[in-house]
Amino acid sequence: MSKTILITGCCGFIGSNMCNFLLKKNYKIIGIDNLITGRKKNIENFRSNKNFKFIEQDICEPIELKSSIEKIFHLASPASPKDYLKYPIKTLKTGSLGTENILKLGLRHNAVVLVASTSEVYGDPLQHPQKETYYGNVNTVGPRGVYDEAKRYLEALTIAYFKKHKLDVRIARIFNTYGPNMKKDDGRAIPNFINQLMKNDDITIYGNGSQTRSFCYIDDTLNGLYKLINSNYNYPVNIGNDNECSINDLVVTLKNIVKSSSKTKYLKLPENDPKIRKPDINLASEILDWNPKVNLEDGLKETISYFYNYK
Ligand code: NAD
Ligand code: UDP
Repeated sequence: MSKTILITGCCGFIGSNMCNFLLKKNYKIIGIDNLITGRKKNIENFRSNKNFKFIEQDICEPIELKSSIEKIFHLASPASPKDYLKYPIKTLKTGSLGTENILKLGLRHNAVVLVASTSEVYGDPLQHPQKETYYGNVNTVGPRGVYDEAKRYLEALTIAYFKKHKLDVRIARIFNTYGPNMKKDDGRAIPNFINQLMKNDDITIYGNGSQTRSFCYIDDTLNGLYKLINSNYNYPVNIGNDNECSINDLVVTLKNIVKSSSKTKYLKLPENDPKIRKPDINLASEILDWNPKVNLEDGLKETISYFYNYK
């Protein structure tokens, strides 16, 4: 039986790390990416590996593959607020048309399809921590609506393919993940703060910094996604670290690691920026026997050393 796995969004942060992770486990990988937010640099160290094939393509266009595919990690989508605000319509199309192309491909290949959803389906949550059973609080016409609704549609479409066509699906609701292969200028809090500290620039905290996130190191996320695709659970599962911290505390932790003369500048909080976020990970713990292992300080140190060597 073929062990080929398709990864959409292979040049992005999570996708490129997933390629590396699976190549080390001896899988054959086909990666698709249109480079809208990803970097070819991210696949450079395995580009010539005979088990890796890269297809530069937009997933919104029809996809035909000669090799037979056993599993699909569907990770393609702009993910940073800066990126999806720049590409609002493309983000909606990628989550809808692009996802349908991938689900149809999965059907033709009789493959297991894992789709990357997000904690953003919970919006600015009124339940804390967020359990998979929570329906969310999303402003459809707010700036984040293009991403949140693309992902809510992705979930609905994926479950419809499961129920109507018996496609074997997995739905990962990924919470804020960080680590090597993030773009220096992708606008998310951790790359922004690290690069500001390294350059002694002002640290830009949006709002008063009391909003919280729960940051998960990439290695933990990869393990969670891998366990999920190898499970038999078809409904959404939170994949994230439940160690919640405020943005102010994140900056304090970073300042303790990076020597810098940066000062802190407080800027306007973007509209609909969630005030709190923390995953309830009991489901993942029970059905996948998965719990994040890397603490914030250790994960940040790895990420900082990646940015020191950034090319
Ligand atoms: P990223 O922007 O670094 O990577 C996404 C990749 O998908 C990029 O390489 C981009 O070029 C590619 N892509 C986008 N649209 C495409 C299209 N139409 N056709 C082909 N390729 C396309 O983002 P990421 O942080 O690696 O996120 C990966 C996935 O995980 C996304 O689906 C995102 O929504 C989800 N997710 C990420 C996080 C996180 O914290 N990183 C949290 C929740 C969900
Ligand atoms: N944030 C910030 N300064 C920055 C970038 C982000 O204060 O330079 C805040 C942002 O407003 C949000 C949190 O940090 O409250 C996490 O932002 P990120 O873009 O990393 O993720 P998301 O908002 O999608 O969870």
